[in-house]
Amino acid sequence: MTPFVYTGHPVRVVFGSGTIQTIPEEAERLGLSRVLIVTSRSQAATSAAVAAALGSRGVGVFPGAVMHTPVGVTETAMRLVAETGADGVVAIGGGSVTGLGKAIAVRTDLPQIVVPTTYAGSEMSPILGETKDGQKVTQSSEKIRPEVVVYDVALTLDLPPSISGTSGINAMAHAVEALYAVDRNPIVELMALEAIGALFRALPQVVHDPKDREARTAALYGAWLSGVCLGSVSMALHHKLCHTLGGSFDLPHAETHTIVLPHAVATNAPAVPDVMARLRGVLGTDDPAGALFDLAGRVGARRALRDIGMAESGIDLATERALARPYPNPRPLDRDTVRALIARAFAGEPPL
Ligand code: NAD
Repeated sequence: MTPFVYTGHPVRVVFGSGTIQTIPEEAERLGLSRVLIVTSRSQAATSAAVAAALGSRGVGVFPGAVMHTPVGVTETAMRLVAETGADGVVAIGGGSVTGLGKAIAVRTDLPQIVVPTTYAGSEMSPILGETKDGQKVTQSSEKIRPEVVVYDVALTLDLPPSISGTSGINAMAHAVEALYAVDRNPIVELMALEAIGALFRALPQVVHDPKDREARTAALYGAWLSGVCLGSVSMALHHKLCHTLGGSFDLPHAETHTIVLPHAVATNAPAVPDVMARLRGVLGTDDPAGALFDLAGRVGARRALRDIGMAESGIDLATERALARPYPNPRPLDRDTVRALIARAFAGEPPL
């Protein structure tokens, strides 16, 4: 076995259905007496119910979280933190809401309880991406990693099929890249394979029948494990490329991941035969990249960057930017390789 380093991260995870009811006791466990809820409009009713359950322990609800964690929104929320004297944050929503909770935590070190309602996986990571003046800046710190994550399957039943499919493939991307991470280790590999299998099987059924609790449970379980992968080891080509594409052309996060993943896997495949063998096993196919492309089709996702707002002129710009800052990737990257990947993803062609 190759020598490795494994670091466990102490996040308390409560998983089940109806688990949102545990938030008052989780707040008490953390010793919180002045809890601010942050959320977005889609989770307003759930947040109001949690605020009621918190009673005098709750000091307010801020429903203004939006995509890409703009610093201006965080500053508005920070004023509420100061006015209310909040001593903890409960974030209820998708990755955008989790981002706001993290942005408050990095500024205040307040403890966070996160209730994810998509499959983004941000809740298990110490990473925060914020935007200011159109620039996305990413930082990593243990202050950012939430203390408690409450996964409630019931809250995911209303996640629209279109978001469920792409959000789930966004999660799979964390697990896939964990398999060939420069700092990979056997524990994270176990979680990654379990996550990929659970999501691969569950997502088509989630989209077919969004109220199927068994499929929803498997998808959320897979999303959790994928989030652990994201929060434990370094991501490579796929994540760097999605970051560049999203930041350069303001593309939707989960859809960008869904389109790029099969191409990133196909590009790295020659450099990681062991990983491809594992993916073949867990996906039950000879062609993992093709299976991920087919999965995107089966969940009804768009498969071309040109269909989600990218212009053809962006191919060269994205290639330059993706190569500007080198990072560890199993296959050495040159201009032709990266450009070919982006061009296929742009056109919606199957991975080579
Ligand atoms: P999102 O949070 O923007 O949610 C997408 C849409 O779904 C929103 O309109 C939201 O209101 C709605 N929604 C969420 N949950 C719902 C539910 N249960 N029912 C009905 N509607 C619901 O999207 P996302 O893909 O979850 O997160 C994307 C953001 O998260 C991006 O800003 C991305 O950069 C960030 N992210 C960060 C990390 C990290 O580790 N830092 C990881 C993944 C994603």
